[in-house]
Amino acid sequence: MVKILIDGKEVEAEKGSMLIEAARGAGAVIPSLCYNDELPSYGACRLCLVEVKKGKRSRVTTSCNYPVMEGIEVFTATEKILKYRRVNMELILARCPKSEALQEMAREMGIEKPRFSLKDEECILCGQCVRACKDVVGVSAINFVNRGDKRWVATPFFDHSAVCIGCGSCAYVCPTQCIGMEDKGDVRSFRKWNTEFKLKSCKACGCHFAPEFQLEYMRKKANLPKDHFDTCPSCRP
Ligand code: SF4
Ligand code: SF4
Repeated sequence: MVKILIDGKEVEAEKGSMLIEAARGAGAVIPSLCYNDELPSYGACRLCLVEVKKGKRSRVTTSCNYPVMEGIEVFTATEKILKYRRVNMELILARCPKSEALQEMAREMGIEKPRFSLKDEECILCGQCVRACKDVVGVSAINFVNRGDKRWVATPFFDHSAVCIGCGSCAYVCPTQCIGMEDKGDVRSFRKWNTEFKLKSCKACGCHFAPEFQLEYMRKKANLPKDHFDTCPSCRP
């Protein structure tokens, strides 16, 4: 553990852990759209900016990928920081003005309407879905494609991914809920990935509880007996 100053308060934090965690732990309110403590940091949305003073040098940096180190002094809510964050939030909201989650977050930061020209996107390119698929699920069914204005998240060739297991982790972490996962009857569909999966029905109660493809993937990976997923979690002994 090392000692650092956060908004004038001395706190102890684990060396090398991410500053956003230490600051939030010390009570600072730091917004973020791309940070998820279960995933590798990415530093894309730039809402978690803070000012870090180290010796005589001071810099504005994203706190989600800045490692805690002995002796730093951190300012999380100076006028300059709040202004930078608001500009970044305005840019994000201007990209996806219809997202209710973003509208609410912007309002909390004092923004009613962005000053920038409005686009009509749904995805803020935070990369949480890509990291969840790669680093948690371990299949890398989706990725960023193209650059600049044309940057997007997609399956290979914008078609059904052969390795997607339909688990829904990408939809679960998406801050704008734009992946469009829906379970209807015995089918799970993903609007954004242009994909459908058949859901397995429980042999005991008949409910549709998970994609057959996902269950088979898990069964093989864990070397479980063939009938292991014949019943849903509630009916399993
Ligand atoms: S549903 Fe498919 S794309 Fe989404 S996290 Fe699971 S495997 Fe990846
Ligand atoms: S689809 Fe959602 S999680 Fe994926 S990059 Fe876009 S906003 Fe982020």
